Amino acid sequence: MNRVRILTSDQVARILDRMAFEVLERNRGGEGLVVLGILQKGVAVAEALSARLAQIEHRSFPVSALDVRPYRDDRSLEAAVADHSSLQVDTITDRPVLLVDDVLFTGRTVRAALDALLRWGRPRSVQLAVLIDRGHREFPIRADYVGRVVPTKYQERIVVVPDEGLAVYVEEV
Ligand code: 5GP
Ligand code: MG
Repeated sequence: MNRVRILTSDQVARILDRMAFEVLERNRGGEGLVVLGILQKGVAVAEALSARLAQIEHRSFPVSALDVRPYRDDRSLEAAVADHSSLQVDTITDRPVLLVDDVLFTGRTVRAALDALLRWGRPRSVQLAVLIDRGHREFPIRADYVGRVVPTKYQERIVVVPDEGLAVYVEEV
């Protein structure tokens, strides 16, 4: 197995700084912004982004966790799964929602995330931030904030390592 690092933790730190400023610019300082990380790794990226939003704006941006597994179109119907979502704000209704994931691939996870979050209310808008866009979309989904576009072969995998400051590798399986 061949593993190549494509982003160091320093590079990811600068990318997240830039994304945080983009989010704040497009959302007037993040007023009312609800940050939702898609379990599992999306939450780690959301926490890192939220820390920067907090540092820039001097207030906290709590991260809620969204479990999309019960809402996947490619889940086998027999397999009942526990829902590990946890909403950290009173409501998402009439507020801008920032959905965060580590890797955007076919778009099926994000499609499921839209179903999952709509049971909590009717957001004013939903925007998507991903650390890596690796291509191969199967749904008409795109991200509003992209850390890095990494064209991959279908069988390759991106590996994001939270313990290494979200350093990013490409693995050929
Ligand atoms: P999609 O649903 O868009 O096909 O895939 C995106 C979801 O699957 C994300 O939640 C992401 O965590 C995971 N994923 C898909 N491809 C990769 C990959 O190459 N590396 C990692 N780390 N996650 C992936
Ligand atoms: Mg995931």
